Order: sequence, then C-alpha cells, then structure tokens
Amino acid sequence: MLQVFSMPCGFLEFNSKLFFPNLEKGELFTIPVPSYLLTHPKGNVVFDTGVHCQAIDDPVGRLGEIAKLFVSRTKPGEEIMTQLKNFKLTPNDISYVINSHFHFDHCGGNEFFPSSTILVQKNEMGAARDPELRKKVGFDPKDFDHKLNYREVDGEYDIFGDGALVLFPTHGHTPGHQSLRVRVGKETVVLTGDACYTKINMDQDLLPSVFSDKDEMYRSLGKLRDLRDKQGATIIYGHDPQQWKEIPHAPEPLA
Ligand SMILES: [Zn+2]
Repeated sequence: MLQVFSMPCGFLEFNSKLFFPNLEKGELFTIPVPSYLLTHPKGNVVFDTGVHCQAIDDPVGRLGEIAKLFVSRTKPGEEIMTQLKNFKLTPNDISYVINSHFHFDHCGGNEFFPSSTILVQKNEMGAARDPELRKKVGFDPKDFDHKLNYREVDGEYDIFGDGALVLFPTHGHTPGHQSLRVRVGKETVVLTGDACYTKINMDQDLLPSVFSDKDEMYRSLGKLRDLRDKQGATIIYGHDPQQWKEIPHAPEPLA
C-alpha cells in the first residue's frame, strides 16, 4: 500500500531574513530538514537524503563556508540511515532516491545509496557538472559526486507509470529543482522541496534570498499555489517550522 512518511533528518537554526527577505530585522529560528519515505507496492522511494551525518559533529569540516550561515541543531540518530533503520529498512530496500535538488541539506546522504536509482532533473545534473555554475548555485561535489546510479529526467516523470508518484519541474531555486506529486487514494500530496520553503512564502508570493533564477522561481511558486488553491492538493512545504509541528511524522504516516 502506498503510504507517505515524513522523517526528520535534522534541524538547522537560521536567521529568518534568509527565508523572508521583507523582514526588517530577522530573528533566529529553527527549521526542519525533512526526508520522506514513500512505500509504493512496486518499490520504496526516498525523497531527499538530508545533511551528511559528518555535519552533526563537524559542520564546518564537512560543509565549509556555508556552515557559518547556521547552527546545526541536529542530534545523532536524526539522519537518513537511522530513520530507515527505524523502518527495518536498509538502502538496499530503496529502489529510487529522488533529489529535489543538489543543495547540501537535500542530497548529503546520497553516497549511502549505491544500489538505488537516483532521479534528478537533467538541468540540475548539467549545473552540477559545470564547475563555475555549481559554485555559483552552491553545490558541493562531496554530496553527490560518488559512484551512484543517477538517472536524469527531463520535465515530468511518472516513476512507476501509474500516476501515483509524478516528478515535475519547479526550477528556479536551482537550475533543475523538481517537486513530487503523490496520489494517495483520492488525495494529492505535493512535496515541494525548496521550491517553497514555508506557507508564508506561498501566501505572500515571497521568494527567499536563495534562488538561481528569480522569474522561474516565481513561476514555480505559482504552479504550486495553483495545485493547492485550485486543485485542492495538500502542500508539504520544504522547511516550514510551523507546519512541521502540525503534521504527523514517522512511524505515523502523513498520508
Ligand atoms: Zn535548497
């Protein structure tokens, strides 16, 4: 049976101005770094792999300069491998890993999935291969450049061909960002990734300060808002501390 589980893969403390640049003065707030397990009858799927476990003890050593922007509030056990272990699963049980994009808090655990097929948009992989561009958009090869089975998808992609799990492009935060539409019974759940950090960003049509293409990110945000407001989809925002408190987490299903 297809179920969706939200798994905490750590927490980071940021200045809220990074999320809401319209604030006069930001304050420190702690955001969740989620990963999701989707149990499709034809195979298990993981959406995003969180921050690499080395960053729990040594954020600067693992992540470099970017670690100066936040304080890690992640505890041991809050990373993808332990989360899967709680389900009695190992990476060998995961058919597909989806990377919404290649930022450190979404693909840090990729290296632990050598036998899974990793689904990433063609534009994202293109940016990752270009040394100048990847630096500009904040990708670190340590996170994704391993001997892994990447499959590049271009635009919409129906993972099992039955309409249950459909990737769709939401470029703009990064060159090849993608989100996932999940059909569970009559319900549609959308995992936005960083195409929309929080409900506030969607309600106020407010971009965060991190994007690779402003116009494209506005278009993607609009597309996600239409799914919510015109089609009744449940939106799971990328890093929303308020929503995180309200939704169920593993072992309880989200949908
Ligand atoms: Zn991101």
